[in-house]
Amino acid sequence: MSNAHYEVNGEVAVIRLDNPPVNGLGIALRQGIVDGIKQAEADNNVGAVVIIGSDRAFSGGADISEFGTPKMHAEPILTTVTHYVETSRKPVIAAISGACMGGGLELAMSCHYRVARPDAQIALPEVKLGILPGAGGTQRLPRLIGAEHALNMIVSGAVVPAKQFKGSPLFDEMVEGDLLEGALAFARKGIAEKMPLNKVRDLKARHPNPEGFFMVARNTVGAMAKNYPAPLKCVDAVEAAVTKPFDVGMKVERDAFSYLVMTPESRALRHAFFSERKTSKIADVPSDTPTREIKQVGIIGGGTMGTGISINFLNAGIPVTLVEMKQEGLDRGVAAIQKVYEGRVKKGKLSEDKAKACMDLLTPSLSYRDLSNADLVIEAVFEEMGVKESVFKELDSVCKPGAILASNTSTLDVNKIASFTKRPENVIGLHFFSPANIMKLLEVVRGDKTAKDVLATAMKLAKTIKKTAVVSGVCDGFIGNRMINQYQREALLMLQEGASVQQIDKAIEKFGFAMGPLRMADLAGGDIGWAIRKRQYAEKPDMKKMVVADRLCEMGRYGQKTGAGFYRYEPGNRNALHDPEVDKVVDEVRAELGITPRKISNQEILERCVYALVNEGARLLEEGIAQRASDIDMVYLTGYGFPVFRGGPMHYAEEVGLANVVRNMEPFAENPHTEPGFWEPAPLLAKCAAEGRGFDEQGQ
Ligand code: NAD
Repeated sequence: MSNAHYEVNGEVAVIRLDNPPVNGLGIALRQGIVDGIKQAEADNNVGAVVIIGSDRAFSGGADISEFGTPKMHAEPILTTVTHYVETSRKPVIAAISGACMGGGLELAMSCHYRVARPDAQIALPEVKLGILPGAGGTQRLPRLIGAEHALNMIVSGAVVPAKQFKGSPLFDEMVEGDLLEGALAFARKGIAEKMPLNKVRDLKARHPNPEGFFMVARNTVGAMAKNYPAPLKCVDAVEAAVTKPFDVGMKVERDAFSYLVMTPESRALRHAFFSERKTSKIADVPSDTPTREIKQVGIIGGGTMGTGISINFLNAGIPVTLVEMKQEGLDRGVAAIQKVYEGRVKKGKLSEDKAKACMDLLTPSLSYRDLSNADLVIEAVFEEMGVKESVFKELDSVCKPGAILASNTSTLDVNKIASFTKRPENVIGLHFFSPANIMKLLEVVRGDKTAKDVLATAMKLAKTIKKTAVVSGVCDGFIGNRMINQYQREALLMLQEGASVQQIDKAIEKFGFAMGPLRMADLAGGDIGWAIRKRQYAEKPDMKKMVVADRLCEMGRYGQKTGAGFYRYEPGNRNALHDPEVDKVVDEVRAELGITPRKISNQEILERCVYALVNEGARLLEEGIAQRASDIDMVYLTGYGFPVFRGGPMHYAEEVGLANVVRNMEPFAENPHTEPGFWEPAPLLAKCAAEGRGFDEQGQ
């Protein structure tokens, strides 16, 4: 069945693109466009053709449901379609509204004319997937809007309103009223005036000083692109548009596309793109599960997390009642929220009116009774089970039936918290990350009794507040922190075995993490990790002790907040400085433990830290705590600064090859300073490695 409808309106043939939601250029639509052009050419009564989409989208580009399937490469591919359109013997006019992106914009640029609504959104976002436009976008856009604007759009992937290019050859007319009427009028007038078959390929993409411009562009883009090869290839392609004939430029574009699509960076970016879309799919919670309406939110605790969490809802226009124990705490919380809005206004990121509107949605309170109308309450009080118990008992007594009761706990058992209420089915974990108004990740912790519609509501709400929500089962640390504990552990053990603080962080930062594990510990606060370790030492007496880290905490070195941790910090400055005091502690601890320090390679540092994540990730999959490996990757990409161009720990391991990962882990098990069993590959990892398959691929 074709997704393109053909009809004739007087002398004008109209091809209407109809592949909701965004007219993705799937095979049926591509074929429909070609058929429509042929039909129009064969009809003597037709003088021109209009291609139009929906209000929402002319076309958002490739049909992502075809990615990785043979349909994507089936003829007519997009370059074949654009060829048919451009060589049509009858003028073709693109009528553009809504999204006109990627392949959609390339299709429009192959038309002889373009009319658009001023608010249509245009973009060539391919660079965000580590590739470049592959159907002439890099050659035609510079010919229409000039090399400089085109390069900016192609290198950034930014979305721009059509009206920005009003008056340029990109748009022949802006249509304020009905788009189809406007396009038909344009076509009729053109037929009467015998409009020529304008081909963008015949235009010249000019620049007064191409040599100088592209040299500077290469330097700037190269410096910004760092680990990503696509942006520089975009520069090559746009340069070819300016300096070479069209067909040669098309070859430069095609070669660059073929190269980029095979790079690990592009594979990682595409993996992240698709993984993000999968996170909201929950095996036993169908997408049509009814959700509860969340019109009023309560937050308990106006500390670091409570204030950040509140801002998410205020930004989304949802009223928040913030409850604290004492007036002083409440005032501090409100002031913290106010400060964030003032900062955004000062930086010009938010208007004063909008900031005020957000603040007006905030109701500070000292009484739980003010939560009787809340549809959702999120608790962010101290991390102690006793405190959580009294809060949840109180909530159970004041909240209306059907209200969702959530905890932001990072370590406590959500099932136990649910058991403090008479409505455990309405209890869920909503684990935000600090700073909660900025970090994208939200771990949605599904308790044993959490109702499906409560889970579905949380996932939907996450979208409203622009978070990437990943479902986690209940366990110590959920997905993210349970894995990071193993990564930190390896870093701390290597510090005892012979590596220095600086070497460990540098090796991990070179891999692409924004911050090495020890700088990260200093930022998070050493006391938090210490508390977790003390609990774990008690639970598992055989566990290896992270003596250096413990010793530094005993000395009151909690990291940035105390001006000293694994590094030292000057007042008011977050720069991590080498501290000989720490070296001294490290030497003492090594002597106490009888460890003769050995030289540890950067490769070992990297592998022990990252493979510790991977092995624990595989255990989480086995236990059903994480639904899929790609969810784990999203946790790490959005919450832990894992380098995006590596696609997350599980994807990275698959790129290395799971059999290689298992093999590389073997010598670590021989290390006398590790506990037996730690480097035993998780059964799922071993199985996938043996079967030569990825974590999310079905085994036999
Ligand atoms: P915080 O100490 O900054 O704030 C806690 C606030 O809760 C305080 O202002 C306190 O006055 C208030 N409070 C305590 N008991 C209360 C009660 N009975 N009623 C009302 N208010 C009460 O702590 P935080 O860092 O915001 O952490 C809060 C929760 O979020 C903890 O469970 C923590 O584990 C979790 N968490 C923290 C982080 C983080 O990075 N800080 C990240 C994720 C989750």
